[in-house]
Amino acid sequence: MNVADNLDKIRGGIDEACKRSNRNPEDIKIIAVTKYVSTQRAGDAIEAGICHLGENRAEGLTEKWETLGSKPVWHFIGSLQSRKVKNIVDKVSYIHSLDRLSLAKEIDKRAERVIPCFVQVNVSGEESKHGMDPGEVKGFIRQLAQLPNIKVAGLMTMAPNTDDEEILRCCFRSLKSLQQEIISLNLEHAPCTELSMGMSNDYTIAIEEGATMVRIGTALVGNETEVQENEPEIKN
Ligand SMILES: *Cc1c(COP(=O)(O)O)cnc(C)c1O
Repeated sequence: MNVADNLDKIRGGIDEACKRSNRNPEDIKIIAVTKYVSTQRAGDAIEAGICHLGENRAEGLTEKWETLGSKPVWHFIGSLQSRKVKNIVDKVSYIHSLDRLSLAKEIDKRAERVIPCFVQVNVSGEESKHGMDPGEVKGFIRQLAQLPNIKVAGLMTMAPNTDDEEILRCCFRSLKSLQQEIISLNLEHAPCTELSMGMSNDYTIAIEEGATMVRIGTALVGNETEVQENEPEIKN
């Protein structure tokens, strides 16, 4: 399936989710997660009208960046080792995986401009998931005030891997309510207007619950083996 057709379907799904929740589709950005696919396939996504690309490894981002350059808006979405910050910080517009003070300090030190970051929250409490405990987020964000190159653009989460709609909804709703608490702190360095949540399986639910950025890989660009052999499965 080509990226343009996938994108049409996803936009359709977004429109319907927006209707159900009384939202404007223009308020939702689609990040094409290209971690499974080639640079060429990422280029196809741009051709199809995608402006935002997400990568979860410093190497993958650097490799694609060397070919595709700074035309797409780059999002770093994976767990980030501090020693790799210097390789990506000048290439990305957003970092979605801020989860500890040592990483924030390294970003602050290496960046030559303010970097909008998402604090990654482990809402579901699953051990396999990265991200901070929800109870630690407010204290952490207060500490970031001392780092001039860090701005808290929003919160990010990965929902549990389940088809149970209520579990997913509950996870997204919790992130939204934590966002509201942070907004009400009125911190200059933490406007926290964005919510990065929703992937191939659950983006429509995430949008109904307030997502402003959805990170979609499989349903949009597929993954390499599926693209070569047959059509990627569309899950939504
Ligand atoms: C891989 C990945 C995605 C996209 O997952 P799909 O299910 O393929 O859409 C989104 N967010 C993060 C952090 C990821 O690592």
